[in-house]
Amino acid sequence: MTRTMPIAKHVIYDILWVTVEKAEAPYIMRLSCDVDCVNRALATHNLKKAGKSSHAQLSIGRKPGNGPLKENTLYIMLCTAKDRNGTKYPIKDNIMQVFTKFVSEGKATIRLKQPEQDICISKADVIQLKSFLNVLRQALQGKNLDSITLSSLAPASAKNIEKPKTNLVITTKRDYPLTKNFPMSLESLQVSECRMKRIDSRIFNLRNLTRLDLSNNSIEIIPDEISKLQNLSELKLAHNNITIFSPSVCLKESLQKSLNLLDLSNNKIQKLPLQICELVNLVNLKFDNNEMEVLPPTIGRLHRLQFISACNNKLRTLPASFMKLRLDSVDLFGNSFDVIENYQISAGSVDVPTLVECAARSIKKSRVPYSEEDLHLHLCRYLDSARQCWCGNYCFQCSVRYTSKVDLRRVASTVTAVDVQGGTGVPVEGFLCSPQCLKKFQNNPNAYWK
Ligand SMILES: [Zn+2]
Repeated sequence: MTRTMPIAKHVIYDILWVTVEKAEAPYIMRLSCDVDCVNRALATHNLKKAGKSSHAQLSIGRKPGNGPLKENTLYIMLCTAKDRNGTKYPIKDNIMQVFTKFVSEGKATIRLKQPEQDICISKADVIQLKSFLNVLRQALQGKNLDSITLSSLAPASAKNIEKPKTNLVITTKRDYPLTKNFPMSLESLQVSECRMKRIDSRIFNLRNLTRLDLSNNSIEIIPDEISKLQNLSELKLAHNNITIFSPSVCLKESLQKSLNLLDLSNNKIQKLPLQICELVNLVNLKFDNNEMEVLPPTIGRLHRLQFISACNNKLRTLPASFMKLRLDSVDLFGNSFDVIENYQISAGSVDVPTLVECAARSIKKSRVPYSEEDLHLHLCRYLDSARQCWCGNYCFQCSVRYTSKVDLRRVASTVTAVDVQGGTGVPVEGFLCSPQCLKKFQNNPNAYWK
């Protein structure tokens, strides 16, 4: 009997704990958020204050020292860094309306009668905001809130009203957070010189992150989870050990929408995947000091691209679609470009395409979507190998390859010379799909580039 007693006690405590948790979980008395107090009286006099929200703490509670607790003494208190002691607004008969249309975005507005003010809440945690409004509703309905531990409306501590950390720079292994988490509010994170081999999976949970700089580590692969960072606009991975930029990462819709800058300089990449051309919002692409011999043939699809730099690779030619880009600056110094005079046409035939090629040409022309689920793998590979003729049509084996010398100043306003002699001409490789296109090209090879 004596041996079973402690176990029984333990069970009872557990049950009590659960009931307390259940009762208190939906009630949040203090809310950390951004608040903009808008004076409605100013608007009626045609004066409008420029909205400037500051980080604040909102609490619902009773004034201390009020004697017996009465419902009509409930207040909302607003504390900011400028006003830590807080301003108190009575709740009963003083709240005209609560706007909750955007509560799922962490926003709500509480309209007060006196003073004539709107408390505009933003950047609040959605669950906490809902709970806070829940308490407010109960207070308004005059429900008995005695069972809830209301705030004592004491002045907010500095920690509660200080702005959440949005920027973190870690440049030594000693500063790397091993035992505690990264602040969830981070928008910019730099982790350098930490000899990181794999990207820490905790980073993928930082949903507000827009800039991630992991330069100067030893990272080898970029996992697909990086696409969980739905707002990521800058990804810097320079000076790592990356050999392959995974095609599946480029196919993630979130990154296609958000990514503006991708820096893969000083890695060991031999080939960029074709799928990188799906990252259509890229503005700045850097891959200096890698081992690339070719660029993806559809690079011209990156129509927002303004800056491209690929110094010190092993590029011998550029794909024809490169000439579709309209860039601010291009830097291709230190590559091993082929030397050609005007243009060259290599062996090939444009006579009669096979039936497979005819079918594949129309699939590509009509942009019929295909995947490994619908087609045999080798047909998918075949379709992926499509070459686009300057006329816009696609071709496969039945095509003629040409190389022509083009001046980079045609695609960019600022051009860094490609060699020490100051040259800006580069060989461009393309394909021609039919005898007509071949004839047009031979008549005037440069006309195509206008
Ligand atoms: Zn053609």
